[in-house]
Amino acid sequence: MKLDELKVKCDYFDFDDKFYQKIQPQSLYDAHLISYSKEACDLIGLDYSECETQDFVDFVNGKKKLKGSVPYSQAYSGHQFGFYVPQLGDGRAINLGSVNNWHLQTKGSGLTRYSRQGDGRAVLRSSIREYIMSEAMHALGIPTTRALAIIGSKHPINRSYEEEETGAIVLRISPSWIRIGTFEYFAKQKDKKHLKQLLDYVIKNSYPHLEGKEYSYERFYFELVDKTAKLMSQWMAYGFIHGVMNTDNMSVAGLTIDYGPFAFMDNFEMMCICNHTDVEGRYSYNNQPHIAKWNLEVLAYALKDVCDVSKLIEYLDTFMSSNQKHYLELMNKRLGLDDNLSGNSNLNLVVSLLEALEVSKCDYNSFFWQLTNISSLKDFSNVLNIIPIREPMEEWIEKYKKVCKDQGQVFEEMKKLMKRTNPKYIIKNYMLQEAIEKAKEGDFKLVNDLLKIAQSPFEEHKDYERYSAPTAEQYSNLQLSCSS
Ligand code: AMP
Ligand code: MG
Repeated sequence: MKLDELKVKCDYFDFDDKFYQKIQPQSLYDAHLISYSKEACDLIGLDYSECETQDFVDFVNGKKKLKGSVPYSQAYSGHQFGFYVPQLGDGRAINLGSVNNWHLQTKGSGLTRYSRQGDGRAVLRSSIREYIMSEAMHALGIPTTRALAIIGSKHPINRSYEEEETGAIVLRISPSWIRIGTFEYFAKQKDKKHLKQLLDYVIKNSYPHLEGKEYSYERFYFELVDKTAKLMSQWMAYGFIHGVMNTDNMSVAGLTIDYGPFAFMDNFEMMCICNHTDVEGRYSYNNQPHIAKWNLEVLAYALKDVCDVSKLIEYLDTFMSSNQKHYLELMNKRLGLDDNLSGNSNLNLVVSLLEALEVSKCDYNSFFWQLTNISSLKDFSNVLNIIPIREPMEEWIEKYKKVCKDQGQVFEEMKKLMKRTNPKYIIKNYMLQEAIEKAKEGDFKLVNDLLKIAQSPFEEHKDYERYSAPTAEQYSNLQLSCSS
């Protein structure tokens, strides 16, 4: 379909203006296309050739409006680092309506009522990071918002960084942009009417099978607990750290949302912190399931005037066991272990693996890639070759061999399972940094190539063999700042 033929719906305007501000995007000066994603175009039925046109750049840049689109920013609040902030909202994101139930949003489109001290803009580096990483997460089967395109510009942005930066805009698409913080916004105002309207909207959009059912509000919450427990297990199994799990960055559709100072961990570190401002490690790798549960508890209390909160809290008690169950299932797969043979009894093996990985200073995802490529259960030399301190891993390998033997795991089947689960490529921060450096010089090839790698991480990318190797020590687990 052509850009002008897209059928845009704006169901957010069924609400009154307590929910949003109608606002025109402000365009960036001298904008140009950096990249677009064909996969994402397919989701909204947009012809690829349309993305090569000036009209498309103008559209992402807020200069051209789609038929039926009325731009707006959403109101929300939220707990940031544990403290309640009553007024947040889309400070730099502008919603354009939905196509095929994918809600379009541009990030970096200028000031809104909710911008607070911000400038309404997003810089090139953070935009490239979000653009590539949302697609990488999707390719691993991790629920996430998606990214359709990114434009850059000559628009100067000051982030009190050493250098002057330029503005960029990512066109993001998602089945939902509603956050736990959106509910908190009305709950804190004791606004039951709007809270109920929001619940009905979320159910209609993201949980349509619950529409009109008895206890639909409670059941929505139960399902979100399940979805989030599973989402956290996926983050943990693949070593993803979000970095800013504030309640305004937690989706009520169970998606990974709002990419900031995230990382796929390089060397395994249980307490790894990727956000430079997170001094106490609230959002460290290991804390993520606990924080997700804390955030869901905040949601339960936000719903207390419209639901039986004791039922919600009682259900929330299942979060950790559900998270562990999904985590173990996925880790078994990553180790090539068939659940039917192990009966889910490999927790000790996984725990001892994590200890061995940390002590041996091993690159987390490279370990699984090498394990996938062992030639037999007798020869782990390729695994040991990537490990700086080998003894702890040698000990673990003996345990692993014993478990495989005792459970009657079949080597060929193990390989198949691992090949399906362990990608050759995981997008690390140093790779994104390389693409950013090139893009700053006006060369967008690496952004586009990384997008391809991100979208097909299980395939070969022969020019980028180096990206399947462990991260060099000096680039491992570097922290990033939030000022994006
Ligand atoms: P985050 O944790 O990055 O998702 O942002 C928290 C809040 O700050 C959200 O309400 C954002 O919209 C807002 N925000 C972040 N950066 C900016 C900016 N440069 N201009 C305006 N608002 C911003
Ligand atoms: Mg946010």
